[in-house]
Amino acid sequence: MEQNFVTERRLMVERQLRGRGISDRRVLDAFEAVPRHLFVPEEYRHLAYEDGPLPIGFGQTISQPFIVAYMTQLLDLTGKERVLEVGTGSGYQAAILSALTAEVHTIELIPALAERARATLAQIGVTNVSIHIGDGSLGWEAAAPYDAILVTAAGPRVPPPLLKQLADGGRMVLPVGERGAQVLELWRREGEQFSQETLLPVAFVPLRGKEGLK
Ligand code: SAM
Repeated sequence: MEQNFVTERRLMVERQLRGRGISDRRVLDAFEAVPRHLFVPEEYRHLAYEDGPLPIGFGQTISQPFIVAYMTQLLDLTGKERVLEVGTGSGYQAAILSALTAEVHTIELIPALAERARATLAQIGVTNVSIHIGDGSLGWEAAAPYDAILVTAAGPRVPPPLLKQLADGGRMVLPVGERGAQVLELWRREGEQFSQETLLPVAFVPLRGKEGLK
């Protein structure tokens, strides 16, 4: 019989998320519901609920659960928002977002990762995520504006096209900086005014593409 890791998932939520200050009930429920082990390669499945990132192939990673939860909580989703994620990777973050809001767009540069994420999301019955293949440092203009944007790879600065695609009143969370020296930033838009707050030091894979790291 296939293992479903219910106990491991519950412990992850209690110790790594609630225990470290993640308090949004809807966010905690989403982490309890989404089977993270299905988003990691077979050989790492037994490590899926450990406190760290894991390789997903092509030199890329699925992020540490706490960081995924922390970034998600900052978006303050109520269930009605249209959200853009840059860097689909395994599709896990997109699955979490799909449980918290109406419409999710996610964009991935590596076609094979996008295809695998599409298959995994279909396998668990997610229907409100659209996966696009392309350079997400330019955003995804076709579905803009977005009430929330989440970037899961680090570029040298906030990409101007993403600020442009943020809706009035919208929020964006992203890592900014060079390899090994990045911080998480929260941006808010009010009309044509943008405000920025610097949060945690983080370590993400590089954002590639036109507005990414050279
Ligand atoms: N959110 C992912 C998850 O839940 O598994 C983790 C993403 S991984 C840390 C970062 C991803 O960003 C990689 O899959 C990488 O290929 C992708 N990426 C890097 N630069 C990109 C770009 N310019 N456009 C779209 N995706 C990009």
